[in-house]
Amino acid sequence: MVLDTATLRVAFAVLAFALGLLFYFSAFRSTRSPYSAWWCVALLLFLSGSACFLLNGTVHQWWANTLGNVLLVAGAGSAWAGARSLRTPRYNFWPLITTPAVAGVAAALDDPGSNVWAGGAVFLASMSLMIGLTSRELWRLEPGYTRVRIPMATAAAGVSLFYLLRLIVFIAAGPDSPTFVTYFGSAVTTLVTMVLLAVVSFSMAGLSTEQHTRALTTVASQDGLTGLLNRSAFMEMASEQLRRGRGNRSSGALILADLDHFKAINDTHGHAAGDLALQAFADACRATVRSTDLVGRYGGEEFIVFAPGASPYSAEIIVKEISRRLAEGSIPGVPKMPTVSYGIAVVDAGVLTLDEPIAAADAALYEAKSLGRNRAVLG
Ligand code: GH3
Ligand code: MG
Ligand code: MG
Repeated sequence: MVLDTATLRVAFAVLAFALGLLFYFSAFRSTRSPYSAWWCVALLLFLSGSACFLLNGTVHQWWANTLGNVLLVAGAGSAWAGARSLRTPRYNFWPLITTPAVAGVAAALDDPGSNVWAGGAVFLASMSLMIGLTSRELWRLEPGYTRVRIPMATAAAGVSLFYLLRLIVFIAAGPDSPTFVTYFGSAVTTLVTMVLLAVVSFSMAGLSTEQHTRALTTVASQDGLTGLLNRSAFMEMASEQLRRGRGNRSSGALILADLDHFKAINDTHGHAAGDLALQAFADACRATVRSTDLVGRYGGEEFIVFAPGASPYSAEIIVKEISRRLAEGSIPGVPKMPTVSYGIAVVDAGVLTLDEPIAAADAALYEAKSLGRNRAVLG
């Protein structure tokens, strides 16, 4: 049986179009995740790129063939950008522009009017590279991300390898050799990429939802005013931390902080000034604690810090530093920054909840208030 490349390409274009529509309406419209946006762009580029190749053998071949190479490489680049967006919000646009441009120039300089494989080697190398980079990005996702991480990374690595083998046979034996035509020719490739497109779109829909859910989870665990953890997220993460650290024998410190005479700021300078003071305190906390410490807004103008591994002595240094930074700040219209009282408690090694340390820190905080405020008391 001889597979007819033109028919396959039409089927491929129809499939890409159908998947693009399905993906747009099911994943992108509901999640608006960057991942699904990039994949929609990739599908569109694959669709238009393979449509260009349908003009091979006509008078339009010289531009359509060149453009086809550019669009397919750009499609592979978009898949890479999408995978990258799962890991980091920063984009690197250069490879997205230069790689398709190089593939286009190589095709244009290689007599695209009469040679359907114009710039073939550069095209195959670019595809292998971009799909290989996609695989690398998927592989580097944090392991907890998704169950489809490894199958997708492996599938992308397989396709990258397929393009690499095509490149090797293309260079060694040429595009008309029986090995290339039988195993690596356009018909086989179209068939392979068709199956892959369906598989990847299916997995991508799952990934987009996951990216969206993660963003929502972040919002749900944050305190809207200060950006610190809210109370329930703090308690959940602290418990998780205690469970994980059960094996090691190091203790930690728990700090409760309460702004002094805060009501007076609201009453004298207005609620907005009070909000700014809370944000200034949160900034001072963030700037002071280590990345392994947890900081949350415990309630109104009360905050909580869990510093695993910290001694009461280092907890005292932490609170002094927070108060120092807060005092250095300023709020428009408020002549004096508020002071803060702290209650510090030891978190014994091996405990599974913070209930006791919180009660102890609360009692210590109460004592700090009754001793005249603007101080830390160790419970
Ligand atoms: P103390 O030194 O004893 O802690 O006195 P205080 O005035 O700080 O304590 P009190 O509990 O009497 O008042 C806390 C105030 O914090 C009352 C409440 O209106 C205010 N508050 C709670 N949440 C917010 C908020 O999100 N924004 C602002 N601006 N004020 C808040
Ligand atoms: Mg209070
Ligand atoms: Mg207070």
